[in-house]
Amino acid sequence: MEQTSSRTRTTFLPFSPPSISEEEIAAVVDTLRSDWITTGPKTHQFEQDFGAYIGSQSSLALNSCTGGLHIALAALGIGPGDEVITTPTTFICSANVIEHVGATPVLADVEADTLTIDPARVEAAITPRTKAIMPVHFAGHPAEMDALLALARKHKLAIIEDAAHSLPSSYRGRRIGTIGDYTAFSFYATKNMTTAEGGMLTGTPERIDQARLWSLHGMSRDAWKRYGAEGSWYYEVVLPGFKYNMTDIQAALGLVQLGRLEGFQARRRQIVAQYNAAFANCDALQLPAERPYVEHAWHLYVLRLNLDMLTINRAQFIDALKARNIGTSVHFIPVHLHPYYRDRYGWTPDQFPVAYEQYQRSLSLPLHPRLSDEEQADVIAAVLETVEAHRR
Ligand SMILES: *Cc1c(COP(=O)(O)O)cnc(C)c1O
Repeated sequence: MEQTSSRTRTTFLPFSPPSISEEEIAAVVDTLRSDWITTGPKTHQFEQDFGAYIGSQSSLALNSCTGGLHIALAALGIGPGDEVITTPTTFICSANVIEHVGATPVLADVEADTLTIDPARVEAAITPRTKAIMPVHFAGHPAEMDALLALARKHKLAIIEDAAHSLPSSYRGRRIGTIGDYTAFSFYATKNMTTAEGGMLTGTPERIDQARLWSLHGMSRDAWKRYGAEGSWYYEVVLPGFKYNMTDIQAALGLVQLGRLEGFQARRRQIVAQYNAAFANCDALQLPAERPYVEHAWHLYVLRLNLDMLTINRAQFIDALKARNIGTSVHFIPVHLHPYYRDRYGWTPDQFPVAYEQYQRSLSLPLHPRLSDEEQADVIAAVLETVEAHRR
């Protein structure tokens, strides 16, 4: 790709806008006119189509990935006195849901290249109280599932995968969403496909039936069927469930987005190849890792700065890009640095040194299907010129 030097944008380039076409808009309007706006036939169809795409045995559409992780823990009977091992390099909901069920989050540091949970550190963190491992397929790169599955078998632990970034991805030929006990996907506005807010939980039919109870008040039959012609007023509550169901408005969006996902992914891969080519020869930058046996979902392009070669830090680097109208983000402020967790568990920054060090040198560049080659050239020029302007 051609790079023009010192090109400065006149308008702000947002980090990750959604890709919504007239087709999604028509589908939502059609649902609004249909008399069935919350969980119903479109949600059911979305579960079927998503399951067929991933190859999962069973799927449950929800109002978020967070809700999916929460009910996975609840359905597995995890609660007070139990420990769940997760990664410091994640969005905070991974830890919050463990607190929600009254269990204790235990952190295991990440691998320096992929920033996914390190199986060796997971093994070191296992105690008699450990009930589950919750890996995050960070940025769309699958965690080391073979090693995690071996630990789960050996210690009789469940695996709940946070797949918010990894639609679609695979590990040694197996699709993420078909491996662990439960896998939770996100359709939040910035994710690889969106329903504005939304999520999907996959697993075996037995596991998903149990999760379905937890997702809708613990009612022993699909509540939405109560209002259809074949329905009956009678239901029983068999556990104190939550209210995490997806609406048909969201599912209408999701059905169209799912059909466009392969096209989205092709464009994401193209953008990643162009970033990699542009940054490969810059010694102040470290490119994202991609192990040869994974299919990467490329939700994020996380660039790492070799700070010893620069006179500015990551925050100043982001400010320099912002001054050139380039929106970026940071994934993530590690769990153990947030005041609630820091104070509750007495965690210090250096307790998870890899997560802490990589956090300090990371920034995420714009990566979404609507990003044009022109816009990407602006990002590349801004990054390379910021490096040259602040070389040590
Ligand atoms: C976005 C995200 C979530 C939460 O997804 P929601 O659908 O907003 O609940 C969970 N984990 C990670 C790693 C995320 O990036």
